Amino acid sequence: MKSVLVVSQSHLDVWKEHIRLWHACADCELSKTRNKVIFLRGHLPCDILFIGEGPGKTEDALGVPFIGLAGKLLDKLVEPFAHHHRMAVGNVVGCRPCDSKGGSNRTPTDKELDRCHSKICSEIDLASPVLVVSLGHTSLLSIANSIGKAEIFHLPHPAYLLRCGGAASDAFYATQEKLTRKIGELTACGILNATE
Ligand code: SF4
Repeated sequence: MKSVLVVSQSHLDVWKEHIRLWHACADCELSKTRNKVIFLRGHLPCDILFIGEGPGKTEDALGVPFIGLAGKLLDKLVEPFAHHHRMAVGNVVGCRPCDSKGGSNRTPTDKELDRCHSKICSEIDLASPVLVVSLGHTSLLSIANSIGKAEIFHLPHPAYLLRCGGAASDAFYATQEKLTRKIGELTACGILNATE
């Protein structure tokens, strides 16, 4: 998956407007400890949109989602499909949830998820994916009823796969296998179109 966001010409103006609306957002407590509001990386629009929980320390410092160790594992997970499908990744909250400035990552609170909900809904709308992949339960609970016409599919968060042993673990292979089956199903019935 692209390490930056590649926006099609037709989506450029709406994407710029989206960033203008959110880049200085102070709608929840996370604005007090964040370095940057994080948006998507990958292709916009896309066929498959992965959505995780929230940015971590590296993401907050660099302003890009899923760019740390968990992000690298996600890239490895989707490697077999990366040349055939346009993909993007983002999070249900735009700012890093942490205990204090520079402290540990934590799960976003219900209030933070609620305040940021319209940001991720706009991003799903702009990305117009065929498949939305929730990464971890916080993501699934937050977006389950907000994905429009797309199909939702659930996978473990890459941070969990890292704790299981990373790319060499059974959990990683099982997750990749599950994703392979789903993409195969959607491709076979013509819902997802693979490029050569
Ligand atoms: S997490 Fe979302 S709602 Fe909260 S400050 Fe960041 S962009 Fe705004």
